[in-house]
Amino acid sequence: MASEPGINADLHCHSLVSDGLLGPADLARRAHANGVVLWALTDHDELAGVHEARRSAESLGMSFVSGVEISATWANRTIHVVGLRVDPDNAELNAGLAGIRADRLSRGRVMADRLEALGFKGAYEGAMRHAESPSLLARTHFARFLVESGHCTHIQQAFDRYLGDGKPANVRIDWASLRQAVRWIHAAGGRAVLAHPGRYAYTAMQFDALFSEFKDLGGEGIEVVTGSHRPEQYREYADVARRFGFLASRGSDFHAPGESRIDLGKLPPLPDRLVPIWHDWV
Ligand code: AMP
Ligand code: MN
Ligand code: MN
Ligand code: MN
Repeated sequence: MASEPGINADLHCHSLVSDGLLGPADLARRAHANGVVLWALTDHDELAGVHEARRSAESLGMSFVSGVEISATWANRTIHVVGLRVDPDNAELNAGLAGIRADRLSRGRVMADRLEALGFKGAYEGAMRHAESPSLLARTHFARFLVESGHCTHIQQAFDRYLGDGKPANVRIDWASLRQAVRWIHAAGGRAVLAHPGRYAYTAMQFDALFSEFKDLGGEGIEVVTGSHRPEQYREYADVARRFGFLASRGSDFHAPGESRIDLGKLPPLPDRLVPIWHDWV
């Protein structure tokens, strides 16, 4: 039964439609092999993979939820809002995502120019070899190019030196507003979940303001157990969920074998006294 709190739910991961390395069908098989019973595909700013993901998941007997991870900007920093159980054909959501992808396309060009200026020849073509389309170019693709061409030894180093916030090839842009991200998800009938809050470099006061604003906008949940949190952050964000009355989500944020800290379905359970985001999904 998909509504039980203790089930192996994994509600955040990426396919090669965005910056993962496996196709939706391969991800479905991997999730199923790892014991996942409730699964969501949540590519960055794109829903193109969810139909294949659903077919594959359901043929394996896994419950599937269509998802998307929306890039948003709050207080001058990038945050991610996951939409779960959205209608992938909703016009308002798709129009919003198309706008973000247009920004992604122009940012990719500027990032490539920065990397070229740093001496990394062929950055645009090199990153594009890993991406589905120019409008889906992610920093991850540039990181893979830097590793492949021998300029960095691993993905994390590419972010630490060149692509991370404040680093020379990082290009700041304004993504969607928090209000827009939540509105599009709700328009598509989904639940809005603040992704990996532990990754954002906000002050305690800003965090409080972010959670309050998200709650006021009708945001339903936050990620508590995620591959992007350290174990002590599971407890910290479980407290936030209880304090603000958010539903709790759980997702590996799996991108690729060998690149991701936690494999699909290999997360610890949610802490006690939380209401899972899937509590009323049957
Ligand atoms: P983008 O949406 O193009 O800015 O790329 C963001 C993606 O880059 C995230 O979804 C992660 O997959 C990856 N990423 C961001 N920061 C880091 C980091 N510090 N280390 C490794 N991967 C990262
Ligand atoms: Mn990613
Ligand atoms: Mn994210
Ligand atoms: Mn993600």
